[in-house]
Amino acid sequence: MVVRVGVIGVGMIGEDHVRRLSRVLSGSEVVAVTDVDPARAQEVVGRAPGARLHTSGEDLIGDDDVDGVVVASWGPTHEQFVLACIGAGKPVFCEKPLATSRRSCERIIDAEVAGGRRLVQVGYMRRYDAAYRALKATVVSGSIGAPLMVHCAHRNPSVPPMFTGEMLISDSAVHEMDLSRWLLDEEIVAVRVLEPRRNSRAPERLRDPLLFLFETSGGVLVDVELSANIGYGYDIRCEVVGESGTVSLGDEGELRVVREGVRATRVPRDWRDRFLRAYDVELQAWLDAVAAGGCTGPSAWDGYATAAVADACLEALGTGERCIVTLRERPDLYATAR
Ligand code: NAP
Repeated sequence: MVVRVGVIGVGMIGEDHVRRLSRVLSGSEVVAVTDVDPARAQEVVGRAPGARLHTSGEDLIGDDDVDGVVVASWGPTHEQFVLACIGAGKPVFCEKPLATSRRSCERIIDAEVAGGRRLVQVGYMRRYDAAYRALKATVVSGSIGAPLMVHCAHRNPSVPPMFTGEMLISDSAVHEMDLSRWLLDEEIVAVRVLEPRRNSRAPERLRDPLLFLFETSGGVLVDVELSANIGYGYDIRCEVVGESGTVSLGDEGELRVVREGVRATRVPRDWRDRFLRAYDVELQAWLDAVAAGGCTGPSAWDGYATAAVADACLEALGTGERCIVTLRERPDLYATAR
C-alpha cells in the first residue's frame, strides 16, 4: 500500500520530510501540503509532483485523499493539529515536542484514549539512530552491570535569532529527557537546572549553557550539558556508567584521520548532518505501521512524560532548586514498553 501523506508546516524540517517522503522512503506519496506562509508552501509543492496546496491544517486533515498526516509546524500549533487528526481517525506523525505543556499533552492523551487506539507517533528520532541503539543494546545486555549514572552533552554551534530561553528546554533538552527514559526504561522523577558562567557568544536573552540533573525512578542520575552557541559544530555525547563498565555513544559514519602528530575526527555541522539516517528510519517505521493499520514508536504518553519533565525544568530554572516530576497514571493504551 502507498500511504498518501499530508504535511503541515514546511519550514526546515517539514521541507526535509517532504523530500524524504517523496524521494528517499518507500511506500509513500506526498499528496497535500500546507504552511502559514503560502509562498513557501507553493515552493515546496513545486518539488513534490502530485501534491496539492491546502489553505489550512484542518483543511488538509479533512482531505479524503490524505491517509496520514505529518505535523512539522511550530510547536505551539501541534496540539490543535494532533487533536484534529485524532478526531478524524487519521494516523499522525508529530514532530517533537508533542505539545508545549503537560496540560496540552493530557488533552491529546484523553482524546486518543477515548478513541481506543493509538494514532500518534512523536518525532523523537534519536531512538532510531544506529549509535544510540547500539548503546541501548549494550546497557540492556547487562555487560556493564546495572546503570548508575549517565553523562550527556548536547552542543549546538548556534541557534536562530527567534530561539528563546524556554526553547533551550522545550525544544532542545527534551531530546535528552526522552532519551534517558528510553535508554533506562525508567521515568524521570526529579530535576535540577544549574547555570554555569554565561557563554559570551550567546545572545543577551539566553542563559547558555545550562546543566541539568535528572533523577530517575530507579535512582540513576543523568547530567546533561546543553550548549546552544558553542560554535565548533554539533556535538552529541552520551556515556552510561554501569556497576562494572561504561559505554559511550559513537558517531555514525565516524572518520578518524591521523597525520603529523594529530588524531582527528570530523564533527557534524548540525542536527541534520548528525541524524540524517535516523530521520529516514523513523519515518519509514511510521509509514510501515500506517500501511499495516497500526502505530509504532514514541507515543503520546512519551510526549506527555517528556512535557512534564520540561515543565518541571522550567519551574526549576533560575532557582537551582530540586523540582519533583509527577505523572498521572499511565493508561492501558500505553502499557507496552517504551
Ligand atoms: P521552522 O523552520 O520555523 O518551520 C516551522 C514551519 O511551520 C514554518 O514554515 C511555519 O511558518 C509553519 N507554521 C507555523 N504555524 C503553522 C500553521 N498554523 N499551519 C501550517 N504551518 C505553520 O521550524 P522547524 O525547525 O522546521 O521546526 C518545526 C518543528 O519541528 C518544531 O516543533 C521543532 O521542534 C521540530 N524539529 C524537530 C527536530 C528533531 O530533531 N526531531 C529538528 C528540527 C525541528 P512561519 O515560519 O511562517 O511561522
